[in-house]
Amino acid sequence: MKVLLTGGAGYIGSHTALELAKNNFEVYIIDNLANSSIEAIFRVEKLTGKKLTFFELDLLEREALNDIFDQNQFDAVIHFAGLKAAAESVAQPLAYYRNNIGGTLNLCAAMGRFGVKNLVFSSSATVYGNPEQLPISEDAPITDAASPYGRTKLMIEKLLSDICAADSTLNVVLLRYFNPGGAHESGDIGEDPNGIPNNLLPYITQCTVGSRKALTVFGDDYPTPDGTCIRDYIHVVDLALGHLAAISKLQQNPGLVTYNLGTGRGSSVLEVIQAFERTNERKVPYVIGLRRPGDVAECYTDPTKAKIELAWQAQRTLEDICRDAWRWQKKNPEGY
Ligand code: NAD
Ligand code: UDP
Repeated sequence: MKVLLTGGAGYIGSHTALELAKNNFEVYIIDNLANSSIEAIFRVEKLTGKKLTFFELDLLEREALNDIFDQNQFDAVIHFAGLKAAAESVAQPLAYYRNNIGGTLNLCAAMGRFGVKNLVFSSSATVYGNPEQLPISEDAPITDAASPYGRTKLMIEKLLSDICAADSTLNVVLLRYFNPGGAHESGDIGEDPNGIPNNLLPYITQCTVGSRKALTVFGDDYPTPDGTCIRDYIHVVDLALGHLAAISKLQQNPGLVTYNLGTGRGSSVLEVIQAFERTNERKVPYVIGLRRPGDVAECYTDPTKAKIELAWQAQRTLEDICRDAWRWQKKNPEGY
C-alpha cells in the first residue's frame, strides 16, 4: 500500500514513517523542510532498512504537487504538514492561515483530481478549547480555539467534513492528538524544534543537556492538586501506531470519523518534571513563572472510542516518554 505523508520529515511524521516502513507500507514523503531536516528521513531508512521516496516541496506549490499525484497512485494520505506554534500564530496569523489552510486546499484538490479517496488528518486537542467536562470525549462541544493555529485545525476539520458530505466515496479520519512526547527507542530520531522550544518536553531535555538555563513553569495557581496545568502526554511511538490503526479504519470506508489519541491519564507540569528526574536521575532546573495566555487548566482524553473502534491504545508510560526523550537529546545534543 502506497501512503503519502505530508510533513513526513517532522517529529510525528518521521516516527509514523518508521512504523509504516517497518510494516511494509510504501512510504512517500512531501516536506518543505521548514521545520525539519532531511537527516530524519535518512535515519528512518537506516533504522528500517527500507527506502522512502522523498519530495522536497511546499504544499503551496500546486502544479508540482499535482505532478507528484499524477506520477504516483497513492492509496492514502496522512496530512501532517503545517505550522504548529500557537504563540507564533498569534503574531503571524496570515502565515498560519496561508500555510495550513492553503496547503490543505491544494492537497484536497490534488486528491480529488487524481482519485485518492483516503485521508488521515493531524488535528489537535486544542479544538476543544477550555473543556466543560473531563475526560474529553470526541462528542464534547467544539467552541473556539485559543489561537489562530487552533483555528486552522478547526477550519480544516470543517473543510474536510464538508467535502466528505459532498462526496460519499471519501474517507477521512480526524485524529485529535493530545500531548506527544518522547522519541523512538533508538534515540536516533526525535523532536528537534527550531529555536526556543514551545513544548514542555523538549524544553526540559534542552535544560537538562545544558543548552537552556531553566524551565519556566507557566503558573502554579491553577485549580489543580499542585496548582500546575494537567495534560495527557502520549508517547510519539504510540501516536505513530495510532496512524496505522487509522489507515486500517479507512479501509472499512467509514466516511468521516474522529478519534482522540491520548492515554486517558493527566499529569501536571510538576509531575512531568519529577518523572523526568526520577527516570533519568538528572535534575531539571526550573522556576515558577506566570500563566501562559491561552493555557487551560486541565486537558486529558477519554480514550474509549479509539480503543473500541481502532483497537488501539497507548502502551507507553510517562516514564517511557521521559527516558526516550532524554536518550534522543543526549545522543543528539544539538538535534539533527
Ligand atoms: P513538525 O513541525 O515537526 O512537522 C510538520 C512538518 O510539516 C515539518 O517537517 C514541516 O517542515 C512540514 N511543513 C509545514 N508546512 C509545510 C508545507 N506548506 N509544505 C510542506 N511541508 C510543510 O510538527 P509535528 O509535531 O510533527 O506535528 C505534525 C502535525 O501534528 C502538525 O499538523 C501539528 O499541527 C499536529 N499536532 C502536533 C502536536 C504536537 O504537540 N507536536 C499536537 C497536536 C497536533
Ligand atoms: N509548559 C510550561 N513551560 C514551558 C512549556 C510548557 O510550564 O516552557 C506547560 C504549559 O503551560 C502546559 C504544559 O506545559 O501546561 C504543556 O505545554 P505544551 O506547550 O507542551 O503543550 P500544550 O498543552 O500547550 O499544547
